[in-house]
Amino acid sequence: DIYGDVRKNSKGVNIDIDSQWGPFKQQIDAFMTESWQGGVIVNGDTPDDREPAPIHSPYDRREQVGSVRWADEADVTRAIDSAQQAFEGWRRTPAETRAAALDKMADLMEADLALFTALCHREAGKIIQDGIDEVREAVDFCRYYADQARQNFAEPMVMPGPTGESNELYLEGRGVFACISPWNFPLAIFIGQISAALVAGNTVVAKPAEQTTLIASHAIRLFHQAGIPTDVLHLLPGVGPVIGQAIIADKRIAGVAFTGSTGTAQRIHQTLASKPGPIVPLIAETGGQNAMIVDSTALPEQVIKDVVHSAFTSAGQRCSALRVLYVQQDIADNLMTLLQGAMQELTLGDPSLHETDIGPVIDETARQKLQAHIDDMRANAELIFETPMPDDCAQGTFVAPIAFRIQHLSQLDEEHFGPVLHVITYKASELDDVIAQINDSGYGLTLGIHTRNETTARYIDERVRVGNVYINRDQIGAVVGVQPFGGQGLSGTGPKAGGPRYLYRFATERTRTINT
Ligand code: GLU
Repeated sequence: DIYGDVRKNSKGVNIDIDSQWGPFKQQIDAFMTESWQGGVIVNGDTPDDREPAPIHSPYDRREQVGSVRWADEADVTRAIDSAQQAFEGWRRTPAETRAAALDKMADLMEADLALFTALCHREAGKIIQDGIDEVREAVDFCRYYADQARQNFAEPMVMPGPTGESNELYLEGRGVFACISPWNFPLAIFIGQISAALVAGNTVVAKPAEQTTLIASHAIRLFHQAGIPTDVLHLLPGVGPVIGQAIIADKRIAGVAFTGSTGTAQRIHQTLASKPGPIVPLIAETGGQNAMIVDSTALPEQVIKDVVHSAFTSAGQRCSALRVLYVQQDIADNLMTLLQGAMQELTLGDPSLHETDIGPVIDETARQKLQAHIDDMRANAELIFETPMPDDCAQGTFVAPIAFRIQHLSQLDEEHFGPVLHVITYKASELDDVIAQINDSGYGLTLGIHTRNETTARYIDERVRVGNVYINRDQIGAVVGVQPFGGQGLSGTGPKAGGPRYLYRFATERTRTINT
């Protein structure tokens, strides 16, 4: 492999499912039939005054995975009241104590690797490798932010005191933080936002995606076991327009961390800006219209491996995923033949089987949206290849990987969050136009470049405005503390998750000057 093995770059769980499949599958199977209960958690309790709603598996909609009790608006008020009261004590809790709770949380999640992997499979339709990767990234976030807090929050930064004064700069929590997270990384991003907010000295109300509330509920219980007080962290599951809206409209919210669609981030931004009271920071990580540029010097087999991995892993449901492949015309025919061959080899089906590459998309709404786009492409673009869909996918919300040739990036009005790849061929003389198309989209998340010409790589890298550039490798799977992740423009506000400056945005700075 020409690029690093993610597991070696990570501090989290390290399991090779190829060699450990049998024993690991046995552990997972123990959790495959359990019926899970989850839902709102305020001050450590789930109220039993409401009917639980059933949760179904995306792989087989007939299968009930468990049930959840949704939050209502009274829960939102109770949770924010409690988090507001707890803030003063948590702000003054030593950074070391907060960091130690994150380390403990990492240990607890590692111990629950099989449980979370099974739950990611059953509630989110993830294949086993994706489930393991979730836990690994969540563990990495906790350990990384714990280290960062020890380095930056424990002691003040001593500033110069030229006139004999002593000057110190501190970081401290802002107040009650709202953490609003997506279903595509139901554990990793959920944990990443919350652990950053907590360790920086904030109390938290967390709103997970409604599709993955069971995973979130188990994770919150572990946080409490790890030593995060129950009044410091609350879970408010429900739909965004009701519960998310009620949270961010509350004037006591001191900051918002959001990962999800660009449109929702814009609406949150408007709500925050229009309410009276303090100016509230928004940390938003949103979508992408991610491109890869492949010139005629690239290694075709490596390109295809990286294209397939970047476009179709996790059924294309990553904001980093490749959406638009630009191929230099001279090698396009050859590459398309290789792409068809590689897509033919992908296996769709039961995500709990070792041989499955692609599981279902998250739900019927997502499937229908993707299907509408695919229908539009069938009518207006040239089909390159569609991976065959086996019969056993009939009960799930599956979308088969598919690739179309289009003429120009402007044909795509928005991000299509699934396994749909768009290919554009370009002549060598049109490279500047390719760069302009990508920049004109307004998104700026990931970019792949495949070339053996260093000057070309540098030329493109310097001109395309994105957050994460990957040269001669795939363009997904950023590792915490190794590839800080996040975009610009329509793709987000920064700072980068898993990077050394992330925690600062969750904090406020204070300078203390003493005339000695
Ligand atoms: N960090 C993830 C990756 O690099 C993507 C995160 C997301 O989809 O929001 O694949």
